[in-house]
Amino acid sequence: MDKVKRIFHCHRPSEIQPISQMPSEIPLLKDSWEGNLPCVHDPVDGCNNHNPRHHPVQFDPSLFSPDSTKHKPTTNVLDTVRTPDEYTIPTLSSALPQSPDLYCLTTIPRIHKSLPYTFSFYHLHWLLTHRRNGTLAHAHLQTLHCVAKTGQNPTLSWVTSPLVTDDGNLLLEYAMAFLVQADLGAWTPGSRGRAVAKHALIGSGYRDFKPCLHTTLAFTSHRGEGRDGVRTAGVAFTKGEDDGREVKGDWDSARDAGKDVEPLCCSKCYTETVLSFKLRGDQTLVSIQVYKNLGRGLHPGDPKWLALTKGIMVGRPKEDFLRMRREYEAMCET
Ligand SMILES: [Zn+2]
Ligand SMILES: [Zn+2]
Repeated sequence: MDKVKRIFHCHRPSEIQPISQMPSEIPLLKDSWEGNLPCVHDPVDGCNNHNPRHHPVQFDPSLFSPDSTKHKPTTNVLDTVRTPDEYTIPTLSSALPQSPDLYCLTTIPRIHKSLPYTFSFYHLHWLLTHRRNGTLAHAHLQTLHCVAKTGQNPTLSWVTSPLVTDDGNLLLEYAMAFLVQADLGAWTPGSRGRAVAKHALIGSGYRDFKPCLHTTLAFTSHRGEGRDGVRTAGVAFTKGEDDGREVKGDWDSARDAGKDVEPLCCSKCYTETVLSFKLRGDQTLVSIQVYKNLGRGLHPGDPKWLALTKGIMVGRPKEDFLRMRREYEAMCET
């Protein structure tokens, strides 16, 4: 092989995994089995919506693929103020076969290491089968709606909300938020004449958001400044676009307050990421909303599902970008 050919053959290792023969029909079992809630990763796990007091709960470790068990569960920070004394932990069941060759246990990769939400094909199939049978109730959507605070550095607050579209696709929103604060020492809005500026690196945990298998998001540094009685702040970040480009971004409260940040939309799968920043007192709230279209849940070979779980590309036109966000906005208005 000559030198030029060698260079072209030298691809960087891809995360895209091939799918071996996937059968076109998935036979249903006679007896159904009980699945794990997406937030449950051990026998007393669960989010603040589903299992806030960490009661013993249905947990079947065999339902995780070898990929997802590499991630240890992250303990949810209990919300002791809003935790109710009594609640019912929901359940869900499936009659899909569990054989690895049939791909019914495939899961969407985590979008951040401290966000323990394991959404599997059987969850999708369970919910949308209810829709097709006309038995879909609000309680079913609530079963996939998780609320938690997890991890340290960053401590991420996160909420996942499912939405069924009119044409029977399931959308999922992951809303995440964390706070950063630059210590300006003795500076206060009343410190006349004194200007203080602080730059800080953001902990490594902020650098590895993976909205999908084709895009990345990294928060790199933040800053605060006090001058003329006004505090301002900024956050630097890098977006990894679906074509491999890295695009640097910078938000500055003095320049950009109230303006939209350019979103990160993937043309290889149905994922879009919307960023926003807000200065609140001496802290900056960083919000990340990731929207995904999981498809119609009829078969684990659905191109939308494969694009999210295995990276196998679907061509998505630019005109479709932010459609999922608009669906959520429309739901909030009604
Ligand atoms: Zn939950
Ligand atoms: Zn993608």
